[in-house]
Amino acid sequence: MSNLIEVYKLSKHFPVSAGLFSRKKKYVYAMDEISFTLGEKETLGLVGESGCGKSTASRTILNLITPTSGQVWFQGQNLFALKPYEKRKLRQGIQIIFQDPFGSLNPRLTVKRIVEEPLLTHKIGDRASRRQEVEKMLTKVGLLPEHMKRFPHEFSGGQRQRIMLARALILKPKLIIADEPVSALDVSVQAQMLNLLKRLQEEMDLSYIFISHDLGVIRHVSHKVAVMYLGEIVEIAPVDPLYNEPLHPYTISLLSSVPVPDPKKKNRTRKILQGDVPSPRNPPAGCRFHTRCPDCMDICTREKPDTRQVKKNHMVACHLYQDGELWVPPLPNQ
Ligand code: SF4
Repeated sequence: MSNLIEVYKLSKHFPVSAGLFSRKKKYVYAMDEISFTLGEKETLGLVGESGCGKSTASRTILNLITPTSGQVWFQGQNLFALKPYEKRKLRQGIQIIFQDPFGSLNPRLTVKRIVEEPLLTHKIGDRASRRQEVEKMLTKVGLLPEHMKRFPHEFSGGQRQRIMLARALILKPKLIIADEPVSALDVSVQAQMLNLLKRLQEEMDLSYIFISHDLGVIRHVSHKVAVMYLGEIVEIAPVDPLYNEPLHPYTISLLSSVPVPDPKKKNRTRKILQGDVPSPRNPPAGCRFHTRCPDCMDICTREKPDTRQVKKNHMVACHLYQDGELWVPPLPNQ
């Protein structure tokens, strides 16, 4: 499977005020050297506690915020090295949907105007063809053409998320970044939305970067999963190996808190993490997880662990797995 997107050592450090008399600049280390690849029609689940850098990752990949360092290659082109008009063209292939559809939909615009807006921005089609496209997309996401004349407040949360989705799909993207797209929905509506996303993936050859803190949702939709902690990817693997045989102590503790729905299977012994997530303004030296890790060793407090491939396509950044082969992040355009 060829790669649709390659993210290479992507970092974002936000400068913050260090105080009136301080000369030293301070930073929030929101995301540090994350790397992954994603193939066509594949879904990568990005999971971690809130504040771990998942949303910063999505916005940096989209170039909505400027990265501190690193590269993103999309369809063989370096996104950050393109001229503005080339970037605009390529960006049509990447769209985003957010958690809060009500906050992202302009309440004064009709559904037709909201959904056709990307076509207007990119000067695509005439009035009649744009109307036709809006109708087509609304039908695709399970709404009706007559909904075009209505306003966002006339819809339920699930329907509003469908409007967002129609708007994201109208440019026929290859990649959708879904940032907590079902977190604000009821459980039954969540399931409908997840099934819709899966069906559209097949029909429109879509890839997804699916961001969530919900491990059940991530398991349902993902082909592979990247676990983030304090701005770093600590483990990345195909979905079944990651859920059945997690390696990183953080992943193990996250998964131990998920109830197993099969009464014949024993629940995992729950591993409750001690302490709070440290501040990204002042992340711990060595392994960033060492202040909470039940397996912490002396070396963990001093040296940052390399990412190693411990099993096929199963990478982990932890000193417990020194025997694994050193994993070199995907070189762009390889
Ligand atoms: Fe724990 Fe050390 Fe592994 Fe970090 S490197 S997760 S502190 S064992």
